Amino acid sequence: MGNIIKYIHHGETVSVEKHLKGKHREHCLCWQNCKNFKPEDKKNNCPIASKLFQICVDEKVVTPVWECSQYAPAIMKQQKSIKKDDLIKKAGFKIAEKLGVE
Ligand code: SF4
Repeated sequence: MGNIIKYIHHGETVSVEKHLKGKHREHCLCWQNCKNFKPEDKKNNCPIASKLFQICVDEKVVTPVWECSQYAPAIMKQQKSIKKDDLIKKAGFKIAEKLGVE
């Protein structure tokens, strides 16, 4: 059995295994770039995550999602811009090629 500690979380005294305190996001699948997870946008947030969040608020618990059938990784904005940059570079090379620029 782990080392259980108590601390104040959102105004409530809660118990937690010491080594897991503050690790929720690290372990939760929702926070691993799931495209359905929009915690800042309640209207469009994943209904599963919203339901789970509401239980956490109502019951004053914290729980990660370990497994989920609906998980799908979002395309990172950075990846999109990298692809765009690559295309711009390639287009530049083609133009330079056509113009005979070395
Ligand atoms: S689909 Fe699953 S992993 Fe994604 S936000 Fe919803 S509950 Fe979390």
